[in-house]
Order: sequence, then C-alpha cells, then structure tokens
Amino acid sequence: MPADGTDYTAQMEPLLEQARAEAMRQTPRHLFVPESHRLYAYIDHALPIGEGQTISQPSLDEVWVRELRRALLAWFAAHQRPTPWRNNPDPYRVWVAEVMLQQTQTATVVPYYERFLERFPTVQALADAPLEEVLRYWEGLGYYARARSLHRAAQQIAQNGGQLPATADRLRELPGIGAYTAGAIASIAFGQPTPVVDGNVTRVLARLLWLKGDLKAHAAQKRLWQLAEELVDPQQPGAFNQAVMELGSTVCLPKQPRCGACPVSHLCAAYQRGQPTAVPELSRRVATQARVDVSAIVLREGRYLLARRAPDGLWGGLWEFPRATRDGRESLETVAERAAAQLGVQVQPVQTLASLQHAVTTARIRLYGYLCAWRAGEAQPTGAYDAAAWVAPDALTDYPLSAPQRRLAHALTQHGGQMSLQQV
Ligand code: SF4
Repeated sequence: MPADGTDYTAQMEPLLEQARAEAMRQTPRHLFVPESHRLYAYIDHALPIGEGQTISQPSLDEVWVRELRRALLAWFAAHQRPTPWRNNPDPYRVWVAEVMLQQTQTATVVPYYERFLERFPTVQALADAPLEEVLRYWEGLGYYARARSLHRAAQQIAQNGGQLPATADRLRELPGIGAYTAGAIASIAFGQPTPVVDGNVTRVLARLLWLKGDLKAHAAQKRLWQLAEELVDPQQPGAFNQAVMELGSTVCLPKQPRCGACPVSHLCAAYQRGQPTAVPELSRRVATQARVDVSAIVLREGRYLLARRAPDGLWGGLWEFPRATRDGRESLETVAERAAAQLGVQVQPVQTLASLQHAVTTARIRLYGYLCAWRAGEAQPTGAYDAAAWVAPDALTDYPLSAPQRRLAHALTQHGGQMSLQQV
C-alpha cells in the first residue's frame, strides 16, 4: 500500500468489473474474442490441474461465473430436450432416471423409463416387487448391478417411511447412489446447491477452463468437484446442473463439439485458443481382450436348461444358457460340455445354433450357442449359478436374460423352439 495509505486496488476493483461487464456486452458471440476483451475464468490464470501432482487452486472470476450461469440457464430454458422426468421432478422419478442415465444415453432410456414407471410408480411398488421382475423390466439397459441396487435401496427407503432423503450426504448412504447420483437428486428434486461431475461435466469444464492433464486422477477429480461446487447456481441448482450435462451431451460433444451453436463459447478457453478438442486429454484406454464363450443349449424332453447367475458380478441375478469361456484351442464342443458340467449335467453336443458378437467392459466376446442333447445328471446350481430350471421354449423369454442370451433364445424360437437332434 502507498505511503499515504490509499488502497488503490480496492478503488480500482469496481471500475475493472464495470469494464469487464461492458466488454461482455460488446463481445459478439461465436466470433474470435480479442485478447483485450476476453473474460478469463481464473483470476490468476493458474492452469492447469491434474499435471503431475501439482494442483493449482485458482479462484474463479465472479463476473465470468455469473455470465456462465446466465448464459447456460437461458440456453437450457430454450433448448432442453423434453424428457418424461423433467415434466415431473418427483424425487423417486428423478432417482430412477438418474440411475438409468448412468452409462446409457437419454434417447435409449426414455422408453425403458416409461415402462418401468408404469409398472413401479412408487418407491413402495418397487420395494414390493420381486427382484426378478425388476430385472425383467431393466432388460436391454445392461449394467444390471444398477437395477439390483435400486431395488435394495427402495426396500431400505420403504422400511424407513418411504421418503427419499433430501440431502446428498444422506442419499449417498443408500445402495448404488454415488456422489454424482446424490448430487443430481439433491439438486434437481430438492433444490439443494450440490454439484455434479460426470463425463459430460468433466469435458465441458475442461474446455471452458482449459484443464489439462489426466482428469481421472484422484487429485484432479477432487478439484473438478470443487469447481463444480463453485459454479452451481444457488438459485436454480437443478436447472444449472442439467444445463451443463445437456450441453455436454448435445453441443460440447467429445470429437466434434458444435462450438458455433454453443451458448458459452464467449467464455470458453478451449474455443478461444482454437483448440476445442485438445482437452480433456485422453487417459490411456484399458486394453480389451478378445475371447470366445460357448453357451450350452441343453434340450431334455422338450425343455431347455436355464441357470441363474449368482447375485454379484457380471450379469448377476440374470438367467442364461450355461456358459463357459474357451481355454486356448479347445473345440466348441468341449467348451459346451464344460458349460453344462458346471451344473452336473452331461450332454452330447450336436450343432451350433447361432453365433454373435458382443462386448463387456474389458472384453470383446464371440458367443456361440451350441445345441446339446441331455445325457445324464440333474441340474444342480453351483459356482457361478445359484438356481437352475428346465424351461419350455415359449417360456424362455419370460425369464430375465442378458441381451446376448435373449438373442440366443430368439434364435431358438425362430427354429420353432425344437431343434432336430437326429444327429445324436
Ligand atoms: S465453445 Fe465449443 S468447446 Fe467450448 S464449451 Fe462450447 S462446445 Fe464446448
């Protein structure tokens, strides 16, 4: 401070803010913003986060934050896609939507959501339903652990009065509700100023703020949550969070962002640098392996063997034709025999019924459905399976099946339900 004690910085601040606001008004959207008129998000321009272990802690510029909220909320009010859960932000409906939207795109979710809500319109209805029926209604959405957790959480809520908790912290105590889902429910259904960070939000923030480095790293994630908390609009947190997510899924796309249609391009560091796709930097992908699985489709006196997978793990709680993975150069017949033997059933492999390709997180799988004739043994659930049943052809699709297994069941039905076993 000068010797005369005058605080010039404090005097200058209102003038600087006025100048920035004026620059904002005059800045034409979607055009290159001259250096002198740019609105920087960070007061100290301290970038990046996530590089090495050094995390900068810059504060966000208030004018920039206000303009971001204004522009995003106005855009969202005018351009949001109509979805069934936005018409009625009842906590239960928001919860179901947010769980379905994890890993699945909005357009895919809508018909499943409507069907699910029609069958399970309340927490109580979901809690009272058998898990198998819930899985049946989830079929096609994949990632069935979400449905199992949803069902368990509904039972806990029903036992405690039937109301969803209103805060993110208490929501997180429920099965299957992580930080993202808790923040979404608390902000959208209960108007709490809680942040959300998912893949879309990460991408949008990385570009707006030019965040470099591995944003999946723990320290970077922590900083992203802090930034999202600073940004969320305290008056309209639900709309703001949805606006950022909507921007990420419809405009700020991973490979081809539509910057010309973006309501916040005048605030976007990546756009102003002319490098909108340079961030976020991609982390190394988990290598996927190729493998071959065989499902034994075992026929015994007009019925087929289905087995239910144990509740935890991939496809937990779903039924399938017993399945095994090929080891080295094993023949498909041997793998089919091994698949049935898991349940104590001996078979004579007959012919391939169908072959299809599908993928899970870490593997690309070629799945063969191999028709087999029953030889001996009662089906005893062990190991990967906790139940088994001999099922008539027209009842196969009544069981909750994973998508690839359902395709095998359809292939079987197309063959009239009964394959010829003449070759045995
Ligand atoms: S200007 Fe482009 S890169 Fe920046 S937020 Fe908008 S769409 Fe994304």
